[in-house]
Amino acid sequence: MSDYRPGQDPDYDLFVIGAGSGGVRAARMAAASGARVAIAEDRYMGGTCVNVGCVPKKLYVYASEYGKGFQDARGFGWSAQTHQFDWTVLRDNKRDEIARLNNIYRNLLAGVDAEVIDGRARIVDAHTVAVGEQTFSAHKLLIATGGWPHIPPFPGSELAVTSNEIFDLASFPERLVIVGGGYIAVEFAGIFNGLGAKVTQLYRGPLFLRGFDEDIRQHAAQEIAKSGVDLRFDTNVTAIEKDANGLVVTLTDGSTLHADAVLYATGRKPHLDGLGLENVDVELTGSGTVAVDDDFRTSEPSIFALGDVIGGMELTPVALAEGMSFARKQFGDLNKPVEYDFIPTAVFCQPNIGTVGFTEAQARAEFGDITLFKSTFKPMKHTMSGRDEKTFMKLIVDTASDRVVGMHMMGPDAGEITQGIAIAMRAGATKAVFDSTIGIHPTAAEEFVTMREPWTGG
Ligand code: FAD
Ligand code: NDP
Repeated sequence: MSDYRPGQDPDYDLFVIGAGSGGVRAARMAAASGARVAIAEDRYMGGTCVNVGCVPKKLYVYASEYGKGFQDARGFGWSAQTHQFDWTVLRDNKRDEIARLNNIYRNLLAGVDAEVIDGRARIVDAHTVAVGEQTFSAHKLLIATGGWPHIPPFPGSELAVTSNEIFDLASFPERLVIVGGGYIAVEFAGIFNGLGAKVTQLYRGPLFLRGFDEDIRQHAAQEIAKSGVDLRFDTNVTAIEKDANGLVVTLTDGSTLHADAVLYATGRKPHLDGLGLENVDVELTGSGTVAVDDDFRTSEPSIFALGDVIGGMELTPVALAEGMSFARKQFGDLNKPVEYDFIPTAVFCQPNIGTVGFTEAQARAEFGDITLFKSTFKPMKHTMSGRDEKTFMKLIVDTASDRVVGMHMMGPDAGEITQGIAIAMRAGATKAVFDSTIGIHPTAAEEFVTMREPWTGG
């Protein structure tokens, strides 16, 4: 037990629990401001994003795009060579790259004299943390422990894997069943379909990607089904069993699927197990996330929390912004709250979805009178590749102010395109500003500045 008592000088000014996106950013910024900082991490430097999230996911998306790329090339005069995919090469090269990034994170922290403590941290009291046999005291504690995949209970659930394991499977799953209809399920359906697996994606409701714009959800269902994923809505799993040939998945309609792996992507829960919250007065919200005020302070005044563990949009740039805002306010001289409006986001399915601002339904509820602009077209590349894929773009305008309040796209590079549009929208750009902007030709993005005719239905 630390012998620290309030009023005494503790070991550190800030003790961060969790070296993921938010924790590392907060630790680095606080330490760079002169604070004495320690950061505990029990699994991997860089957290979910670097190790089992954004980074390996995007590398696998790149890998998965080659398969169709070889076919596309024929229309441009390239003769098809035989090509073969080797899962172990992708997996092991990914491991090397992640190990490189782990080191970079460790060095970044060392560079600002933040002390890295390897091990699982448990809060002992409002100013004390235990890691193994050691205890450490700090003026302020920061919970940045992120989230953890959640698999609902059902017979055979232990046979399913999550996004934590899928990147490192011992062998390639030729037959993959994916359960869920959110970001992870949709992205991994695209990845494994592109790598050549037979992918079946099951979603419990009538249409996946709940929360996204209705047109995007419809377009995504159409394009993903065309790409070869066996999409089944209003379907769920009742049991998974093993047989001599792998796994047998029983569905709600009584039918069965045979699979080499079953990926559950049914959401994430705050990672609070064994954290010692029972020792302090940290309140949780109804959904189990850590409740914080605008300064990320919990109901225990010396304890703060940010990133996925407080809920909201569970995205790396959001955790980074929160870490920066927290450190500047508590250890620097800048009080700059995070602005949560118009946060752009992308789903890295194939092609990508990019979105920022209000969905049509939200905009109608917020502004009443809205004007819609929509465009569906075949990307120029696929006029010669022969690939049957359509791009969809949509702008939502608040009619009274002419301000563009929603942008939604599914098409190649939608993630890249959305970032730029988000800047314009945060700056309050009106549709007139979009219209007066000269396009870049020939691009898909130029469509966003040439959509002149409001959509009138049909
Ligand atoms: P995390 O990054 O999860 O870090 C928490 C850290 O705390 C972990 O390293 C954990 O080991 C550690 N920890 C937990 N408990 C303890 C303890 N008691 N003691 C010590 N250490 C502890 N976001 C995007 O913006 N773009 C994407 O493309 C994207 N893709 C994703 C793909 C997948 C498959 C997943 C799962 C997530 C993805 N995300 C993406 C979300 C993104 O990874 C998270 O929003 C982000 O990592 C949250 O950062 P964080 O700091 O809150 O938590
Ligand atoms: P999501 O919350 O996005 O999706 C969970 C999905 O699982 C939903 O379709 C949900 O259905 C379904 N589901 C929930 N419970 C059950 C159940 N008991 N049985 C069957 N289906 C169920 O979570 P993910 O796991 O996909 O991703 C977690 C978060 O990580 C994302 O929300 C996102 O913030 C972040 N992320 C970001 C990425 C990016 O930026 N590109 C990529 C990957 C993750 P329903 O809709 O009906 O509730």
